[in-house]
Amino acid sequence: MTENGRLSVVNPATGENIEEIPISSREEVDAAVERAREGFREWQGFAGLDRAEVLHEISARMREHADQLAEVMTQEGGKPFIENRDEVTWTAACFDYYAEIARDSVGYLPAPIEPQQLALVVKEPVGTVACIVPWNYPLLLAAWKVAPALAAGNAVLLKPSEETPLATRRLAELMHELPDGLLQVVYGAGEVGSMLVRHPGVDMVAFTGSQETGRRVGLAAAERLIPANLELGGKDPFIICDDVDIEIAAQGAVWAACLNAGQVCTSSERFYVMSEVADDFVEASKEFVESLNIGDPMDRSTDIGPMINAKSREKVERHVGEAVDDGATLVAGGGRYGERGYFYKPTVLTGVTPSMTVMRDETFGPVVPVVEVGSLDEAIEQANSVPYGLGANVYTQDFEKMLKCMRELKAGTVWINDPLTDNDAAPFGGQKGSGIGRELGREGLEAFQESKHVHIDPKVEKKEWWYPYGKDDDPGQRTL
Ligand code: NAD
Repeated sequence: MTENGRLSVVNPATGENIEEIPISSREEVDAAVERAREGFREWQGFAGLDRAEVLHEISARMREHADQLAEVMTQEGGKPFIENRDEVTWTAACFDYYAEIARDSVGYLPAPIEPQQLALVVKEPVGTVACIVPWNYPLLLAAWKVAPALAAGNAVLLKPSEETPLATRRLAELMHELPDGLLQVVYGAGEVGSMLVRHPGVDMVAFTGSQETGRRVGLAAAERLIPANLELGGKDPFIICDDVDIEIAAQGAVWAACLNAGQVCTSSERFYVMSEVADDFVEASKEFVESLNIGDPMDRSTDIGPMINAKSREKVERHVGEAVDDGATLVAGGGRYGERGYFYKPTVLTGVTPSMTVMRDETFGPVVPVVEVGSLDEAIEQANSVPYGLGANVYTQDFEKMLKCMRELKAGTVWINDPLTDNDAAPFGGQKGSGIGRELGREGLEAFQESKHVHIDPKVEKKEWWYPYGKDDDPGQRTL
């Protein structure tokens, strides 16, 4: 929440104010950009191994402070402590990964035009990168940008979400091995994000957030002709074939829909179940959601914490309410939980249709809407029917079906029998309206690099294709 030039950070489990921090002013943003650019110059003097050592030290410090970071994340974001503890470990692993692959190669050698020449493609940092991050995985999603950006030699301006600035502030304090100024954190909501994207001292933007904001960020970056990496929302499908253990599939499905109270960009939000097993799937899902522990996210046994704020919960209430009004059946959940905070019960819906909002727009809440399908072709066609394409899940033991889903599902990631698992070494991002560009893997490093072609001819000699184009010039002999 932003008020009187300050961010009020609220604990979503209680609705209470935790801390207020000042929003960065325009002058502070200008000064941060200036400092980052100075840090950039110093960072260019670090050899690959030296950069790697700094990034490994940051990773080690994060692991040392994992409990503390996870506590702050739990208080400001409401994600269960257990999940936040994992997030810190993944964040540290991402720094370790980029520390190493960035020194593997800084370019390549294409075949030259003439045999005595040397052609080089040199990978250089882009410069000063604005990294704008949402609240649902505040440290991990920052790391997916900051770690490769730094490893590639860039300076970073990091803007956490206005909902979750505190863990990022703590993380930045733990990064003191970096040259002075190289990483700057600025605080605020969209206005401060927009200042960064439009700032003449910013050379690139890496953004994660909603499709709506991503479009605005992409347009502002296009106006300045700077690159923008956009990681946006999703409406992931989940296909369940009739050849699997339905108890396990239902548990995997519920976890993929309800993890972090359904507030994951790759939350599964549409379930297409073969009609032979649909009733069993719905029954198993109902039993499983009703067995989950909802409550204090600091409690180690809590499965489902609160949603981030009242507005997000109201959106889920609207999607579920409209579906029920239009004929869907509420099988489990479907309402608020507890007296305080922003809890919403994990919910199972049947009888949903493609035109319902809950099947079209990103819900970002713990909801399992189930559709019966008659064939895998029908499931894939419906899965591909929305303008999003972030992730897709399939449960099957049939290899031919796996291959068919792999080829035909339009999504940046297809998970088969292991929902929502990330891998630092493999690219992550969206097809269709879910984004432009990729994070993680080699692609995630290249996103923060410019390519420079250097063409060297060691001999100073006149080339046959220069002026003058003489009478005896034979066009057939010209090499260029
Ligand atoms: P959001 O779009 O509201 O905000 C994201 C960030 O952008 C915040 O830091 C916000 O302050 C900033 N921002 C807002 N307006 C801006 C502007 N005009 N210019 C620059 N920055 C601006 O998203 P959110 O509510 O924080 O996060 C939830 C969304 O993020 C969901 O749609 C979710 O699917 C998506 N998401 C995507 C991924 C992915 O990797 N594809 C991962 C996590 C979340």
